Amino acid sequence: MNLRRCVMDRREQRRYLVSSMTGAHHAAGGGFRNPWPDREPHGWRDVLRVVYEFWLRSRPTSWRAVTPSVATPAIAYPRASDGNVAATWIGHSTALLQFGSLNVLTDPVFSQRAFPVQWLGPRRRIDAAISLDALPPLDVVLISHNHYDHLDEPAVRQLARAHPQTTWVVPLRLGDCIRRWGVRDVIELDWWDEAVIGALRVTATPARHTSARGIRDRDQTLWCGFAIESAGVRAFFAGDTAYHPEFTEIGARCGPFDLAMIPIGAYDPRWFMNVIHVNPEEAVRIYQDLAGPYPDVPPPLMLGIHWGTFRLTTEPMDEPPRRTAARWRELGLDENRLWIASVGETRRVAVTADRVLSA
Ligand code: ZN
Ligand code: ZN
Repeated sequence: MNLRRCVMDRREQRRYLVSSMTGAHHAAGGGFRNPWPDREPHGWRDVLRVVYEFWLRSRPTSWRAVTPSVATPAIAYPRASDGNVAATWIGHSTALLQFGSLNVLTDPVFSQRAFPVQWLGPRRRIDAAISLDALPPLDVVLISHNHYDHLDEPAVRQLARAHPQTTWVVPLRLGDCIRRWGVRDVIELDWWDEAVIGALRVTATPARHTSARGIRDRDQTLWCGFAIESAGVRAFFAGDTAYHPEFTEIGARCGPFDLAMIPIGAYDPRWFMNVIHVNPEEAVRIYQDLAGPYPDVPPPLMLGIHWGTFRLTTEPMDEPPRRTAARWRELGLDENRLWIASVGETRRVAVTADRVLSA
């Protein structure tokens, strides 16, 4: 996307903000849409063109994909101690957050392929950092939307059996699907809705994306990001998103964040992806927007997600972290606040002490 088209003055931002708060993302007929300018994702003709481009460019060289390095997770079993916050990148958009005594899992995908069938479609370039049965007890699972690289039916079924007490938080109209797969406790949220689960507050946040699992259900279920907070510690999980003008508002209402998980991969070809996925430069811009309302507070740690695991798009697989780091340096941001993780890497998240005390 041409970044300039996203630069809006405050009044214009407020107009679109109001439109998302007043439900402009609810389409006539029960589905959903993006309420911002240039909102329409591409049609089927463009989908076919991009598949052809992907096929052309993918062979033969880029199948020799570069994958991230691997680390041994340092997960606290069964839970972390109070006051300790840690994140483990399991791969793609799957991360385990240990918020003191709470365990939260994002977009759990463990299958070999992100596709309806396991004999076709994007195959894993690297295994999930831990197996499903090695996860600690889960309090909350967050699902951002229903694309196959975020919503993995076999993983949901297995988690539902192994962790029957877990609360699943999903965007509007995704609950029935999850329940059919065996999940008992589901909360559906609209954008800006909040849920309180024990000591955890979860807010669904606007994202600029789309949804579908087949050819007839496009945009029938909502997509979102999540802000979560417990004992004054705050994290943001962007889900899948293109750039949009409401990240500053998300920061203002749900921040200041200690950790921001933002997608950095799956952005080329740009003519097609610009309305559904950010590129690395836009990912850093989201980070700046989120931190913007709190200039006097240490900025969050940014974990780059949604790269290195499945080959979904045409950019080289090792390009997202390189471009993210280059943009980070160019802007003079604190190098210690960018986390390009190895798959499986656990990092303790530094939390400002007075933030915990003030909770
Ligand atoms: Zn998606
Ligand atoms: Zn995705």
